[in-house]
Amino acid sequence: KAKEGGKGRCHIYTPQLTRHAKKRLKLERLLRRAIEKDEIEVFYQPQVDFATGQVVGLEALARWRRKGTLVLPSEFVPLAEECGLIGAVGAVVLRQACIQGALVNGNGHRIRVAVNVSARQLEQSGLVETVTESLDRSGFSPELLEIEITETALMRNEDRARVVLENLRTMGVQVSIDDFGTGYSSLSHLRRFPIKALKIDRGFIQGLPADQNSASIVEAILSMAKSLGLFVVAEGIETPAHHDFLRSRGCDSYQGFLFSRPLPAAELEGFLNSRSR
Ligand code: C2E
Ligand code: MG
Ligand code: MG
Ligand code: MG
Repeated sequence: KAKEGGKGRCHIYTPQLTRHAKKRLKLERLLRRAIEKDEIEVFYQPQVDFATGQVVGLEALARWRRKGTLVLPSEFVPLAEECGLIGAVGAVVLRQACIQGALVNGNGHRIRVAVNVSARQLEQSGLVETVTESLDRSGFSPELLEIEITETALMRNEDRARVVLENLRTMGVQVSIDDFGTGYSSLSHLRRFPIKALKIDRGFIQGLPADQNSASIVEAILSMAKSLGLFVVAEGIETPAHHDFLRSRGCDSYQGFLFSRPLPAAELEGFLNSRSR
């Protein structure tokens, strides 16, 4: 890309690229150290059942606590993927999420915990082993663990994905498709994988109920998912109008700022006790 503008331009962009490369290298070094120093933390966003209003799940979301500030995954997950650190980050998240899941469920709740897995993690060896190890160490039940994979990650390496998903299924771990609707896969194709649920991408929720396109897409996803026996979770529910639209169309559960933002582990128990029962 640097060559696009011809020789003269290259000259202008070189120092900038170097600065960019240096910054990246520094960030990579910091991330490596962050993993060693336990600066990767997990936040949890509640998922609520439409029918009962109860919290039925928690999505584990990685955060990097760097000198008192929280770095969001958009700033370090892609980097971690590129420099081969995503396996290490993912292992930290899986371990913590399983420990938290065991804690929460030991207190009389029955709540699933969902962990995001990216394309690279799916392709690398070790995911199934990390899941097994995290479950064993924490005593968390496999039936309450859910792995979220995006459609694109699944389609990028179907053969590998199939093996991993079958392994997870054998262990009793559920798989859901994240950001559904943003990729190019058809539901009938996805159906050939052992999948339990679809998560409708936030992009389709934002414009509801006014935006006709979004409304049609959401309704189509819901009706197809129903006929295939899949659960549907809506992400990014921010307003009562979003909530009512999805509930009235038979969506199973939702997460979003309307109910709660992702919470640090320390605030979770208090929140759950105040919200359920
Ligand atoms: P995602 O899996 O689709 O997660 C949902 C994202 O939407 C989260 O952003 C969450 O904070 C945000 N969100 C939830 N409700 C609302 C809402 O009502 N409005 C808006 N505007 N946003 C909402 P977050 O935590 O920044 O994570 C972004 C993405 O980073 C995730 O998208 C996921 O793809 C990735 N990610 C997060 N944690 C991990 C991880 O441990 N491993 C991997 N591989 N990826 C992760
Ligand atoms: Mg997710
Ligand atoms: Mg999502
Ligand atoms: Mg997303």
